[in-house]
Amino acid sequence: MATARRLVVIGGDAAGMSAAAQARRRGTELEIIVYERSDYVSYAACGMPYLVGGQVSGPERLIARRPEQFARQDIQVFTGHEVTGIDTAGQQVTVAARAGATSVQHYDELLIATGAREVFPDIPGVDAAGVFALRGLASGIAMWDFVNDRTPQHAVVIGGGYIGLEVAEALRLRGIDTALVHRRAEVMSTLDSDMGALASQALRDIGVALHLSESPRALAVSDGHVTGVVLGSETLLADLVVFGTGARPVSELAAKAGISLGVKGAIPVDNTMRTPVPHVWAAGDCAETVDRVSGRPVWIPLGTTANKMGRIAGLNLTGGEATFPGIVGTAITKVGDTEIARTGLRERDCQDLGINYACTTIEDRTRAGYYPGAAQIMVKLCAEKGSGRLLGAQIVGGPGSGKRIDTVAACLTARLTVQDLVDMDLAYAPPFSPVWDPVQTAARVLLSSVQA
Ligand SMILES: Cc1cc2nc3c(=O)[nH]c(=O)nc-3n(C[C@H](O)[C@H](O)[C@H](O)COP(=O)(O)OP(=O)(O)OC[C@H]3O[C@@H](n4cnc5c(N)ncnc54)[C@H](O)[C@@H]3O)c2cc1C
Repeated sequence: MATARRLVVIGGDAAGMSAAAQARRRGTELEIIVYERSDYVSYAACGMPYLVGGQVSGPERLIARRPEQFARQDIQVFTGHEVTGIDTAGQQVTVAARAGATSVQHYDELLIATGAREVFPDIPGVDAAGVFALRGLASGIAMWDFVNDRTPQHAVVIGGGYIGLEVAEALRLRGIDTALVHRRAEVMSTLDSDMGALASQALRDIGVALHLSESPRALAVSDGHVTGVVLGSETLLADLVVFGTGARPVSELAAKAGISLGVKGAIPVDNTMRTPVPHVWAAGDCAETVDRVSGRPVWIPLGTTANKMGRIAGLNLTGGEATFPGIVGTAITKVGDTEIARTGLRERDCQDLGINYACTTIEDRTRAGYYPGAAQIMVKLCAEKGSGRLLGAQIVGGPGSGKRIDTVAACLTARLTVQDLVDMDLAYAPPFSPVWDPVQTAARVLLSSVQA
């Protein structure tokens, strides 16, 4: 009797489990084994700030499916198992079980879905108790427990990206005195600084003390516990410190296996999720992708991308011919009632790429001005001069603002122009929008600049 081919997946979260589930759905004769070094698979890392903030009742709510549920689909999941080496010539992986034993497993196809890890600045004190960074579910549970059990009074969040903002909001919701330190003049470096300034203000509005253009020199520690964050000219009081200082792909296994790494150390893949090494695939936060607006390889680790890449890998490693065309860099978050979203190129990207561009920023309302609840919305829209091709947008505003970014993301995907956006038949009724949707108003204003 012929033995089934074997798929080995390294990493059991968004990309790895999407691929495993998709491969199983294809119905081909395939043994599927997933190795996950932590205790959890198929968890929503994106939900962890809301666990800490109390909007999510408990960690179990963040687990989509457990190993025993995957077992019913004939997907074997081994938690507490770390893959420590890949032998691409022999098509086998070395696996270290936390319980002690090390084994070697043959694969016919191998998917690397090892995700990303937080980067900590190289300063004294980062190992102290009370210092956290959110990444795997265990880190979210540890921080949740700490906030529940130790009831910290003073928190400092280091890093003003979307995770830093979400954590700062969560801590304010828990009544904790919260400061945020960011090395640039405004938070949210994925926006231009004029739009980032609005995000900075949103943090101040919920009572977060901002320390901008600052970097921590050290953490003050007493009896093994963090007590403060040392800046240039002052020390901020802190019994809880959370780092949101960026992440890097977990790609060492791939590098050791002979794969030359790409942007920011991510694993290069083609649009089918194949790495340059036969029978080795990669997907999710550990993998590179393509920015469809600029055509450049990029590394932008997001859950929505990881799920899509995992699905494509699962289809293709079972004989399919699906492709992942890349991303346009769409992302969204919120602070209090302020929604923050971006897609495509920022003005500063246009400058760096030498594009002949024009940008405009408009202020509008989220609903008809006379309808209750109409909130301010700011839309910044950029396009190429001459061709009129849309290049990117940033939106900051009250409830109902953020998801408007999807209109522009769809335009970027279809390579539409400012005129196309002006002409688009978008939905209108007073509770939802002014007669001209704010993104169309921005397009109308931008039109004359790009036609020049
Ligand atoms: C706090 C937070 C909030 C976020 N919010 C959003 C959001 O709102 N929207 C959004 O789109 N994205 C968000 N993200 C990003 C999103 O969570 C990630 O993009 C997504 O989890 C990536 O999935 P992945 O499977 O590629 O990697 P991961 O989720 O990192 O999973 C990789 C897994 O591989 C395991 N692993 C690594 N090495 C090995 C090894 N050698 N052997 C065995 N197992 C291994 C790890 O333990 C891990 O469980 C957020 C992330 C965080 C941390």
